Amino acid sequence: MSPDVLARVVVVKGDITRLRVDAIVNAANNTLLGGGGVDGAIHNAAGEELYTECLTLGGCETGRAKMTRGYALPAKHVIHTVGPVYRNGTFGEPDLLRSCYRESLELAAGAKLETIAFPCISTGIYGYPVTAACVIAVETVAAWLASNELPRVVTFCCFSEKDAALYRERLGRRD
Ligand code: ADP
Repeated sequence: MSPDVLARVVVVKGDITRLRVDAIVNAANNTLLGGGGVDGAIHNAAGEELYTECLTLGGCETGRAKMTRGYALPAKHVIHTVGPVYRNGTFGEPDLLRSCYRESLELAAGAKLETIAFPCISTGIYGYPVTAACVIAVETVAAWLASNELPRVVTFCCFSEKDAALYRERLGRRD
């Protein structure tokens, strides 16, 4: 990864609902109407208005993404993407996960957003192996940043120190 690209990637350990960025990404489900894990945390922190906007969206296909406002969140927008449920890796899961990252970045760039934060999509309830998901996340984001000016900065927001260490290692750094 080039130093220019690396300089635009941040790894933090923490709760994504606390981040003051242009958009946080939600690891949603096909209904877009809330669920457990990071999805539940985002809906709780954003408030009822997020649910009301999500009702108008008509759900979302796996691997795709849709954007809403952030309401009570410090983040201005939420990009809801639906990661694949992991079966054994032969059901298109890698391509679908790649597509989640790419579509989210595309939406952010299209809206001229400068900063975006991702959770570790699919690696909780959806069961995607964490290391394999990290490789896809880092590769997809790095490829995007190498050929696009926006978003300027991408944060990987890891909920556990273990996940954060994995991302830091993958990016070859110590921050
Ligand atoms: P999925 O259904 O896509 O697997 P989950 O929400 O179950 O989504 O898990 C995805 C990742 O989000 C997991 O690494 C989980 O630990 C993490 N996570 C859960 N809550 C938060 C939060 N508030 N902020 C950031 N990451 C979170």
